[in-house]
Amino acid sequence: MSELRIEGLRAGVSGKEILKGIDLVLRSGEVHAVMGPNGSGKSTLSHVIMGRPGYEVLAGSITLDGEDVLAMDTWERAQAGLFLAMQYPTEVPGVSLAQVLSASFAAAGRSATDVPALVGAEAERIGFDARFLTRELNVDLSGGEKKRNETLQLGVLRPRFAILDELDSGLDVDALRACSARVEAATSEDGLGVLAITHYNRLLTVLKPDVVHILVKGELRATGGPELADELETTGYGAYLGEGESDREPQPADPFADPFGPGPFA
Ligand code: ADP
Ligand code: MG
Repeated sequence: MSELRIEGLRAGVSGKEILKGIDLVLRSGEVHAVMGPNGSGKSTLSHVIMGRPGYEVLAGSITLDGEDVLAMDTWERAQAGLFLAMQYPTEVPGVSLAQVLSASFAAAGRSATDVPALVGAEAERIGFDARFLTRELNVDLSGGEKKRNETLQLGVLRPRFAILDELDSGLDVDALRACSARVEAATSEDGLGVLAITHYNRLLTVLKPDVVHILVKGELRATGGPELADELETTGYGAYLGEGESDREPQPADPFADPFGPGPFA
């Protein structure tokens, strides 16, 4: 039984505080959903857990079975058993999926000879066409294909904890069912702990959450059971906003706006 523990986490980027004190404990085999409006800090949380450069941790701690995760490099976090399926998976021209997974195995001291067979088995499990497997990593894949590619890597690497940042975005209904079923199976087969960031209940009908958290403006404003996700479907986030708060971050002026458009005086 492992435990990923986040305590009093405050973090920001470019001098702006985004996460304002997050407490969350995820244990092996559990599924925690994190839901929240756009811009509430969901992806920031995933990046800070995985150690993406550019984010500043201002206070608090993240530990994995008592080990200080924040003191580790990203590759060390991966070796310790953390996995992130990114909201926008990165394209890596010139590097194949097999090379990435073989390098991961080698770095972890595991024999890479099994990688092709594992990739084949995982691809079949989620209905991922073998022709995508030889492509450069994520290059020329559709949004949904990238998400399946992430799920496949999760299946092959068998991490202890997976953070899924909007795994459902871009997936068609069949692919969504296959991918969420694969992750759900990992929770019972391998004791995988999952932090599933999502906007939709659809993901959670197959990947059954034990706990649902609602993240608004960098704070977990509610934590409950699966019924919380059902409630949201009808109430929206309004109930979790303070007086005078909007669920939208003020957005900077659109740099691509038409400079010859009608303008403010039209
Ligand atoms: P979510 O995933 O919940 O939609 P994010 O974590 O992506 O939200 O973003 C939270 C807030 O942080 C947003 O207001 C976003 O504009 C801001 N933000 C994210 N990354 C950066 C960055 N690199 N520089 C400046 N602001 C950022
Ligand atoms: Mg996001």
